[in-house]
Amino acid sequence: MADKITMGPDGDLRVPDEPIIPFIEGDGTGVDIWPAARRVIDAAVAKQGQGRSIAWTEVLAGEKAFRETGNWLPEETLGAFRQYLIGIKGPLTTPVGGGFRSLNVALRQLLDLYVCLRPVRWYEGVPSPVKHPELVDMVIFRENTEDIYAGLEVEEGTAEAKRLIEFLHEELGWHVRPDSGIGIKPISVTASKRLARAALQYAVDHSRKSVTLVHKGNIQKYTEGAFRKWGYEVARDEFAEVAVSWEECGGRPGDKILVKDNIADITLQQVLTRPEDFDVIATTNLNGDYLSDAIAAQVGGIGIAPGANINYETGHGIFEATHGTAPKYAGQDKVNPGSVLLSGVLMLEHLGWQAAADDIVRALQQTIADRVVTYDFARQMEGAKEVKTSEFADAIIERL
Ligand code: NAP
Repeated sequence: MADKITMGPDGDLRVPDEPIIPFIEGDGTGVDIWPAARRVIDAAVAKQGQGRSIAWTEVLAGEKAFRETGNWLPEETLGAFRQYLIGIKGPLTTPVGGGFRSLNVALRQLLDLYVCLRPVRWYEGVPSPVKHPELVDMVIFRENTEDIYAGLEVEEGTAEAKRLIEFLHEELGWHVRPDSGIGIKPISVTASKRLARAALQYAVDHSRKSVTLVHKGNIQKYTEGAFRKWGYEVARDEFAEVAVSWEECGGRPGDKILVKDNIADITLQQVLTRPEDFDVIATTNLNGDYLSDAIAAQVGGIGIAPGANINYETGHGIFEATHGTAPKYAGQDKVNPGSVLLSGVLMLEHLGWQAAADDIVRALQQTIADRVVTYDFARQMEGAKEVKTSEFADAIIERL
């Protein structure tokens, strides 16, 4: 019988055999990629023969919601995610002048989904611009609720900007040019520590070797620098038995997880020149935004990069395609469903349904190795057979 996923008293998810999982199909190419991904996920779960299945329930957001309800993000949708804990979504259009800066940002903030999780690894056969994509196996923990994404900005020339500039001058002696727009970048102990804690716990649970705190603390000492300091504090105060900082061990962590830090700009170089040095990465919101896409480019790009937004304390998680709605391809049954499908794989892993997750990854790799791919990979591969979105899903299901 279909039932809710709940949180146990020990903070672990309790997943029934037929969990109710809300999904947002997504705008633009969502109509192509979501049905394809869903078919693969359902087939893989059924194939395990454990009597499990997913009771999908559609919730509305984006253009479809606006057409049907006049609201871009209806309260029922938020209510469903609150109630059922885990959900999945396709890409959403950012409404222009619709009251939200971005539906994705709104969902993250309203449910306090404080981790943006982006695992980046290479699947054999996927075209890559680098020589050794097989060395890329990183898991990015991007802080998801503050930094410049807090939306605290005032426009140049407004009364608010003028007042703020005067205040900064009078109270702090700061000289800001009068023709400036101003943004505020809050970085809190609360958000930084829970992010670092989640990254370290992930490293423990998944037998990872290192956690790198990526920051711009050489310039922004009390925000980015503080993020680094608080990250090390979490490692020292809460994970001392399983993790050790570079300073404490001189880079020789033994069988413990090595906790180190790196400045953001050099990190963007080193993830290219020595990707093997990076494993779990914990970072602030803006750094994480840049890093996630830059690293994803090494392993086949956004057509195949999965993502999730998670609150490990409340148990809420929304798994999502990391690319946009690609409106020029919408409804053409053309684009790659890999991103939303692998987000589904991440979701199955999160639910503890590892065998189904592994099976999808194996079948996807085999399909790509057989050179049966969508247009985005086909244009970079020799001798590829270009197939539609739905045919790509069929090919994966055949190989489960
Ligand atoms: P986009 O939709 O991600 O598309 C940019 C390009 O990425 C496409 O033209 C295509 O490249 C490639 N691409 C995207 N999805 C693909 C897929 N499934 N398979 C293969 N290639 C894919 O970015 P955008 O055009 O900047 O944004 C369009 C809309 O999406 C905007 O409203 C934006 O706000 C929204 N958006 C939503 C999310 C989200 O919901 N998470 C994220 C980003 C943007 P080629 O043209 O080279 O084939």
